[in-house]
Amino acid sequence: MNTADPKLLLIIGPTAVGKSTLIERALVDFSVLEDIVTYTARPMRAGESEGHPYHFISEERFKELIAQGFFIEWALVHGRHYGVGRDQIQTAHTRSKILVVDINVQGAKTVMREFATAVSVFIQPPAIDALRNRFIKRGITDHEDLARRLKSAELELAQACDFHHIIINDDFDSAYGQLRKIIEKLEKNQ
Ligand code: 5GP
Repeated sequence: MNTADPKLLLIIGPTAVGKSTLIERALVDFSVLEDIVTYTARPMRAGESEGHPYHFISEERFKELIAQGFFIEWALVHGRHYGVGRDQIQTAHTRSKILVVDINVQGAKTVMREFATAVSVFIQPPAIDALRNRFIKRGITDHEDLARRLKSAELELAQACDFHHIIINDDFDSAYGQLRKIIEKLEKNQ
């Protein structure tokens, strides 16, 4: 591995599968981890603020940044732009950290093409119905929106095998235990 290669841990999976809760816990337990705050042009939701969990920018600014080549990858997720800044990743080796990125399937694949050493973990719901219930709990009740998200989740689930690890998030402790082991191994190989 090139010493300048960033150490990347990609956490992938459909919205509401529990990725952010797993990441939050890992950040508390492992000081070697650094959370990459990605960019989005989607509107802020209640309880969110700049930097938590995204850098919130306008659609216009996002498009300017795409044109400037600012993003290492960007994707349209449920009709909204999301992206990872090139600098956020490329300067990482100077900080001796393992960078954690919460990202969708398409974005993860782009990053993996550029950084072959990236470790990818797909978080899977126990069943598609469980995901539907989680969406509803998050206040996504509009029939069309719900159907669109479930469709996109199904498309993502079909690609789970393209990643290094699959964790079924049925029970949090068990899922977190599996993620912990992956991080411990990564930490040892630092
Ligand atoms: P939400 O808006 O519900 O927080 O996130 C929607 C989805 O966008 C999540 O599945 C998340 O993993 C994905 N996502 C967040 N940041 C990025 C990014 O920078 N690039 C890509 N490709 N996906 C992202």
